[in-house]
Amino acid sequence: MSSATGGLRELHQVHLDLDACQKQLENGPRRIAAHEKKLANKQAEIDAHKADITTLQKTADGKNLQIRTNEQTVADTKAKLNQAKSNVEFDIFKGQIAKAEKANATLEDEYLELLEQVDAENTRLGELNGELKAAEASLQTTKDDFAALEPQVKTQAADLETELREAEKCIPTKMMEQYRRLVIAHGPSTLAPLDASACSECFVELSPQNIVEVRTGKLVICKSCGRILYSPDA
Ligand SMILES: [Zn+2]
Repeated sequence: MSSATGGLRELHQVHLDLDACQKQLENGPRRIAAHEKKLANKQAEIDAHKADITTLQKTADGKNLQIRTNEQTVADTKAKLNQAKSNVEFDIFKGQIAKAEKANATLEDEYLELLEQVDAENTRLGELNGELKAAEASLQTTKDDFAALEPQVKTQAADLETELREAEKCIPTKMMEQYRRLVIAHGPSTLAPLDASACSECFVELSPQNIVEVRTGKLVICKSCGRILYSPDA
């Protein structure tokens, strides 16, 4: 057992814990943004749906107006029947009445169909509003959860930063610059425990001499992937 390898193992653990904290701090806002997007999409769907309903309703109103106009035409023309000056004129009035009544039969069917569509679309709008409320609640929960978690994770991360400075003391001064470069390149996987006789990061077998060096606490860098190796059971 060597205190130097124990130090490397501890250093690796601090890196992993710190990375987990940082991921938690990044994931919170990412999750909130995803929920906000979902909410905005639902709102856009509702807006489009409302516009569709307005269009349907306007079409229905137009049909209704046409029906009323035709009814007026029928009433007016019926009033003129008695004043017809000839059989020909009488037949013309009759024809106009029949035409307006026929047009109204079709218009009334179309009008009722449009009203049914408006009803169905309003029912769907109610469902969409329910989905919007659920999305709002879900966003709020995500925000609340993160607001509750964030301060403690930040404190934990600050403590780990301090622990990291302390744990880094096991890196020899002459290797510090190289270590910093490795941290930039590999993050928390800058260090890798031995997996039997191989590097656990790239699975390349070490030479027997390197294995002995790792086990006795010498700082060995994997020739294949560049990780700092340590013995997991030190
Ligand atoms: Zn390796």
